[in-house]
Amino acid sequence: KMELFDVYSLYPVEPVRGSGSYVYDAAGTEYLDLYGGHAVISIGHAHPHYVQMISEQAARLGFYSNSVENSLQHTLAERLGALSGYDDYRLFLCNSGAEANENALKLASFHTGRTKVLAFSKAFHGRTYATMAATGQERFQDGFAPIPDGFKTVPWGDRSEFEAAITPKTAAVLVEIVQGEGGIRPMHAEYAKGIEALCRKKGILFLVDEVQGGLFRTGKPWAFQHFDLKPDAISCAKALANGLPMGAMMTTDEVSKGFVAGSHATTFGGGALTSAVAAKVVQIMKRDHLDERAASLGGEFMESIRRISESHPGTIKEVRGLGLMIGIELAFPAKAVWEELIRRGFICNLSHEVVLRLLPALNIPEEDLRAFADTLEDILANIKK
Ligand code: PLP
Repeated sequence: KMELFDVYSLYPVEPVRGSGSYVYDAAGTEYLDLYGGHAVISIGHAHPHYVQMISEQAARLGFYSNSVENSLQHTLAERLGALSGYDDYRLFLCNSGAEANENALKLASFHTGRTKVLAFSKAFHGRTYATMAATGQERFQDGFAPIPDGFKTVPWGDRSEFEAAITPKTAAVLVEIVQGEGGIRPMHAEYAKGIEALCRKKGILFLVDEVQGGLFRTGKPWAFQHFDLKPDAISCAKALANGLPMGAMMTTDEVSKGFVAGSHATTFGGGALTSAVAAKVVQIMKRDHLDERAASLGGEFMESIRRISESHPGTIKEVRGLGLMIGIELAFPAKAVWEELIRRGFICNLSHEVVLRLLPALNIPEEDLRAFADTLEDILANIKK
C-alpha cells in the first residue's frame, strides 16, 4: 500500500483549476480564495502574464545551474533591490521560506563570529532544524531532538525581556514584523524600533523574516517599511513566484563580505524558470501598485469586520492585521464557521482554532471581499440565534 505522509489537516475541498481570486473543484464548484495557498498566490491564479512567462521561459530554458552566469537572476536582483531600500546589496536565491531563513542565520553567524540567536514566542520560521529551533514552540519541536542549541525564545512584545536575553555571544535576532502563523500579530512601531536600536547598540544582526508578510501584502513592499526599519537581512519566499517554489535572502554588501565561492550553495535556487517568473511577478506587483491596493482594501475590509463585530457582540473578539494580511479572532472556536464559509464558497485559513486568517491575492476585487464580509456576518448572526 502506498500512502502520503499524513502530516497535513486537509481542507474539505480539492481545487483543480484557478482563475484570479477563484478556484474550482472537479465538479466546477467555485470558491473565492482568501487563503491564496497560504499567502503564495499574490497576483491571482493563472495570471495571464505569469502563464505566458512560464511557458515562454520553459520553452527557452527551464533550468541549468548556479555554476553558470544567469542574467535572469540579475533582473530579479535589480527589481527586488529597488524595493529593499539598500544602497549596495546582495541577493541569494533559494527554494523556500525556511531555506531563506537558514541562509540569513548562517550569514549572521559567519559575519559576527557569534553563536547565539534570539527569536520570539509565537513566531514561526520554518520546519528545518535551525528554523524549527528559532520557532520556539513545543508543538513544532516535540519529538524531533536534537534541536540545535544556541536559540533562545523571548516573549513577544516585551522589550526589557529581549534586552535581558542579549549576551556577548548573540549574533542575531530573527523576527516577523507581523507574526503570521502566530495568528496575525503586527509589532507595535515603538517595540519594533526598540528591538532594532538594541541590535545596533550591541552589534547584533537584525534579521527580518518577510516570508509571509513581505512583497506588498501588508500595504508596503516590505512589512518592516511601516516602521522605517533597516534590516541587516531580509528573507522572503511565498509570494515571490506566485506558486513556483522560490525563496530569497537579501542583505547588505557589507554583511555579505566573506561569503565566497563555496561558502554556500543550492542546486535549484534561482533557476532560469523560477527567476524569470519571480522577476515578472515583482514587476506586476509594482506596476499595479499592489501595495497601495492592499493597504486601502485591507483597511476598509478590517473596518467592515469591526462594524460586524459591533452589530453582533460576542462573536468577534478582535480584528488584526496590516494590508491584506488579516486575522479575525472569534470569541469562540471557529471551526464550524470556517467550515460553513467553505460550504458557502469562501476559503480562508483557520489558525489557533479561533482565528480566521485571510491572505488573499493582492488584486482581489473589492466586491469579493465585501461578499466574504456579508457571508461572515450572516453566519455569525445565525450562530448567535
Ligand atoms: N517564515 C514564515 C513567517 C512563514 O510564515 C513560513 C511558512 O509559513 C516560513 C518561514 C517557512 O516557509 P516555507 O514553508 O516556505 O519553508
